[in-house]
Amino acid sequence: MSPIDRRMLEQMLSRSKAVPRGTPCPRCGYELTGLSAEGRCPECGSPVAAALRPDHLVYSSPDYVAKLHMGAFLVVLSFAILILMLIATMVLAVTGGLVGPGGEALFLIVGFANGILALIGWWLLSSPDPGKASVDRGATSRRVLRVLLSIRIAILAISLVLIFVGVSALATSLTVIVVGMDQIVSLAAFVASLVYLKTLAGRMPGGAIEREVDVVLKVGIVVIVLAVIALAFVVVGMIDGMGGALAVGGCLMIPTGLMMLILFVLYIFLLDRTRQALKEVRRRQ
Ligand SMILES: [Zn+2]
Repeated sequence: MSPIDRRMLEQMLSRSKAVPRGTPCPRCGYELTGLSAEGRCPECGSPVAAALRPDHLVYSSPDYVAKLHMGAFLVVLSFAILILMLIATMVLAVTGGLVGPGGEALFLIVGFANGILALIGWWLLSSPDPGKASVDRGATSRRVLRVLLSIRIAILAISLVLIFVGVSALATSLTVIVVGMDQIVSLAAFVASLVYLKTLAGRMPGGAIEREVDVVLKVGIVVIVLAVIALAFVVVGMIDGMGGALAVGGCLMIPTGLMMLILFVLYIFLLDRTRQALKEVRRRQ
């Protein structure tokens, strides 16, 4: 359906709330003309609204939805591995096991492999839709996300080279720059991923995921504002040697860290909900 056709269809619907001529039921093909948009197909009982949502993921190519689902699965898996690594780090810090360069190298390798896993997951999750119905929806956020992912892949490759180059003064300062860049790009990719997930959620039933994205975005804004204020106090305190400002900045770091932890958990829940929703879409295809 061309965008003009869809706009006409939406205008007609907003006027009459009845199904326009030439709209078959997507499941059984029954002609739904004249029925209420809120009703159900008299033949198979599927919601009439489904016929009016041609961009719905259920009607997309099964291969495409399978790619998205696999992507979401890998992203969630990488987060699970990350959490396990964090727990292992804490346990080892307490017990004092697996120390020394061998242990550090192992963590570094697992961390890297996990980073690659996450990037592959996001790449799949941001696959382009081969269908025409959804060309406009979320295309920009999807492209922005992919550009940021490409930059992260490049950063990952550069840092891998830097590790092999070894400890020289130049390599060390380059690593600091690369890590700093990676943090900025990650933050941008985080925001882009939320905007993209919202457009994806708009193509699935319910609306629960869309609302969850809004909550995560709001918490994210609070974290960024808190972090900027805390950092400003710390910087001012350090430059001017004002102990008071430094103390305020330090105190602000506690709620900032706490909110960051909440954000992290909410984000993982959102991704897992998306994974489940995509699984459900596949089941219904
Ligand atoms: Zn039907």
